[in-house]
Amino acid sequence: MKACAAPSRAPFPDARPSRVVSNRPVGPGWWLLRLEEPSIARASAPGRFVQIRCSEPKACDPLLRRPFSVYWADPEAGTYDVLYTTVGRGTRWMAALTAGPAGGAASSVDVAGPFGNRFTPLGPGERAYLVGGGVGVAPLYFLAREIVARAGPRPQVTLCMGARTRAQLQGIDDFRELPIRSEVATDDGSAGHHGRVTGIFERLLAGEEDPGRVRVYGCGPQGMNESLRAIAVERGLSCEICLEALMACGYGVCFGCVLPIRKELGGDYYNRRTCWEGPVFDARLLHPGIE
Ligand SMILES: Cc1cc2nc3c(=O)[nH]c(=O)nc-3n(C[C@H](O)[C@H](O)[C@H](O)COP(=O)(O)OP(=O)(O)OC[C@H]3O[C@@H](n4cnc5c(N)ncnc54)[C@H](O)[C@@H]3O)c2cc1C
Repeated sequence: MKACAAPSRAPFPDARPSRVVSNRPVGPGWWLLRLEEPSIARASAPGRFVQIRCSEPKACDPLLRRPFSVYWADPEAGTYDVLYTTVGRGTRWMAALTAGPAGGAASSVDVAGPFGNRFTPLGPGERAYLVGGGVGVAPLYFLAREIVARAGPRPQVTLCMGARTRAQLQGIDDFRELPIRSEVATDDGSAGHHGRVTGIFERLLAGEEDPGRVRVYGCGPQGMNESLRAIAVERGLSCEICLEALMACGYGVCFGCVLPIRKELGGDYYNRRTCWEGPVFDARLLHPGIE
């Protein structure tokens, strides 16, 4: 199996204004923000993320930018999307953003990025399983669209998406518009399989005739990531997991997001920066009990 795509070693991504094209609620506590900044749209890829400054220009409270996966980018339009849920000060500030006119300085937000590496593209003849939970579905949606765009009318993609409740299954309608198989799980049984998303994944995997052709992509809360890592390692599956560890700078400088991760298979564990060497890692490199 190839290792994950190497992180960009281009100069540090600039921070610049992105125009707010739209910012609309899409579910209880969930929002979809569309921003316009052509260089970020062009450089975005599934797994990469942006750092949004969640304060008015020249203000610095809260001081640290907030990281968000790119949900979708349209390089031709110069726009990129962020699907987010409001959990604290920064995301509540974002929820109040309103659209501004093209070319206007008003209604723009200061964004740096995109940062990090990306999921390895699906190879010819491979079958993709996208296993996501909570806000982790954001990079998986970008990946699903990319696979569909490259693979033609019958891409071999299965989404396994988990959430606490039906109302928290955000982004599922967007996935269902794609020609892929979508299965859902909820903790309370209000939609789909009653239980863990990795439960559906294991069930589907049992029906796979050739697990050697399967490539798994995951992104979710800590428990889901760990469970997926263990399944992948035990079965020898090709699997990449996008980690959304708490982080501060995004530039690999502060070492606030380090986790014990190997540099190569069978090697020692090092404190590796999720923001700079990741956020996407081969599951076999992750320490059991990641994050
Ligand atoms: C690489 C990456 C990609 C991300 N992508 C998305 C995305 O696409 N959509 C989205 O909604 N969120 C995403 N997040 C999480 C998002 O960055 C946080 O929700 C956000 O920073 C919270 O900011 P706040 O000021 O609103 O909350 P704060 O006031 O900073 O925190 C509120 C609460 O949320 C917790 N929290 C903050 N960040 C995280 C985190 N990373 N993991 C777990 N708990 C956290 C805090 O511990 C606290 O309990 C991503 C995080 C990372 C690292």
